[in-house]
Amino acid sequence: MNTYTEDIETLTKSSHDIKKCEKCNFTCYAILFQRNFKNWTSGNDDIDKFIQDTQLSSHDNVKKVLEWIPYDRFHNIEYIAKYEFGEVYRANWIDGNIFYWDNENQNWKRKDHNMFVNLKNLNTPNNIVLELTNKINIEYKIHGITQNPKTKNYMIVLDNICDKCNHICYAIHFQQNFKTWTSGNYNIDKLIQNSQLSGHTYYSVKYALEWIPYNRFYDIKYIAKDESYRANWIDGNISYWNDENQNWKRENYNMFVILKSLDTPKHIINEIENEA
Ligand SMILES: [Zn+2]
Ligand SMILES: [Zn+2]
Repeated sequence: MNTYTEDIETLTKSSHDIKKCEKCNFTCYAILFQRNFKNWTSGNDDIDKFIQDTQLSSHDNVKKVLEWIPYDRFHNIEYIAKYEFGEVYRANWIDGNIFYWDNENQNWKRKDHNMFVNLKNLNTPNNIVLELTNKINIEYKIHGITQNPKTKNYMIVLDNICDKCNHICYAIHFQQNFKTWTSGNYNIDKLIQNSQLSGHTYYSVKYALEWIPYNRFYDIKYIAKDESYRANWIDGNISYWNDENQNWKRENYNMFVILKSLDTPKHIINEIENEA
């Protein structure tokens, strides 16, 4: 990554007194993490060492790095379910993932602020390193470790996966977006959300409804004989989830659509279901 290389070059040029990595021969990510070891502790030596080891082996890649994440960096902590391996909570992580070192601000540049994560209890305080090693080898990303200050339970922080299909499926992608839109009508919001939560696979996206702001339409024309409007929809319908951009890939941009009024505010849900 370009930014990274440039940062490191400026860093080594500007500060000859800064410690260099024996392996990389410059101030790599491992050195930057190491410099910060004195500023945090989990309160458990084994956990500290485990986290530090992942950071010391980062060098030029932060993807597999774990962090110590203080519990107050989460909000909207919600209990989801109890599994054989313990309780699972969902929360928003204020800071999000480390992206690269921002030399100007002398701090990590992060992305995915307020991302959804799951918090899972670690169950074996006496053998926590083994438990962590096992968990680290599962397919989804573990971001770090935290501790509930009330229960004193240590918890791993991992991607918010679906409890039905065990993946970051289509329902999860929709769900993570619920906070960013509202129709202004509770029942309509629920109806749309339910249609989005009921599908977990590529094919199910066809049946998901969306809330579409009115300004996403143009050339809106009244068609008297149908008592409805014809319009072009700028965005077009969702085709699939694009992991790289972390957004929906759409198709049929500017497609023609018909806008029909809903006439019965009191029975609006029945009316929508009948239309569908
Ligand atoms: Zn290095
Ligand atoms: Zn699912």
